[in-house]
Amino acid sequence: MTIETVLGPIEPAQLGVTLSHEHVLVSMGEDNHHYPWLFDWDVTHENAIRELCEAKAGGIDSLIDLTTPDLGRDVAFVRDVAEASGMHIVVATGIWRDVPRSFWARDIDRIADIFVHEIDMGIGDSGVRAGVIKVANDIGGVSPEGERVLRGAARACKRTGCPISTHQWAPEEVGRRQVEILADERVPMDRVCIGHSADTTDVGYLESLLREGVYLSMDRYPGAEGRPTWRERNATVRALIDRGWAHRLMLGHDHAPGAISVATVRGGRARPTEMTRYRFITDTAIPALIAEGVPQATIDVMMRDVPRRFLSGGE
Ligand SMILES: [Zn+2]
Repeated sequence: MTIETVLGPIEPAQLGVTLSHEHVLVSMGEDNHHYPWLFDWDVTHENAIRELCEAKAGGIDSLIDLTTPDLGRDVAFVRDVAEASGMHIVVATGIWRDVPRSFWARDIDRIADIFVHEIDMGIGDSGVRAGVIKVANDIGGVSPEGERVLRGAARACKRTGCPISTHQWAPEEVGRRQVEILADERVPMDRVCIGHSADTTDVGYLESLLREGVYLSMDRYPGAEGRPTWRERNATVRALIDRGWAHRLMLGHDHAPGAISVATVRGGRARPTEMTRYRFITDTAIPALIAEGVPQATIDVMMRDVPRRFLSGGE
């Protein structure tokens, strides 16, 4: 099966080195759609293209953009910057943590219909098809409305074969409940990736998920205040590799650039000089794993083979 990107289908062999969980443009509350005058769109475009070009120059061929409607998803923006940068970008259907009120009472099969429409027909009138289904459950576990989205995603996955990528709060082992609900819906577990899994260092918990047959996205490199550092994330990845799980692991940053505000541009702070976050794994985390003795072939499994199998459903 081909892999759907924002610029159309590609052959699985074209995917190359892939980041498992990223964003191209995020806007909580959908401010980009409702208050577009807050942002400088020329500068925002220019910056997104710069970041993607730097990632390409650093050896990244593809990324999975897990931005949903409640995060301000704008596939026209993503299409423009994909075209300008040459990055393969897989875009998502599904819903993140801010489940729209209309979904609270909607029949679960009608929720699935919406996701299937975005997978088969396209998103809005863009003609761009979703290549992955995103779901999200955070602190406190799976809420009743979060469960409706999860079950809708499960049914859409079964009808289309489109894979599911989750956001979980790993310190509370929320992924365990996600797997239970998806199993209850009889989703084939090789169509599921449990995300933000490097936010815990509990290898026992992560192995218990892997034994269910899912993939894990070891992302959110390089870490944030109060969460595992990048070295701790690497140590967890190492421990899982040593236990024979490389064939089920993918790496990512959850880099989530927002639109650049008019006020930022006016204040002269709109031209960041640091290297893009999309490069941390290839520039820093992977060289450190290799220095500790992880073979390049194992890195290739995590960066190339696993995302290809996850997205295509094939080898
Ligand atoms: Zn994310």
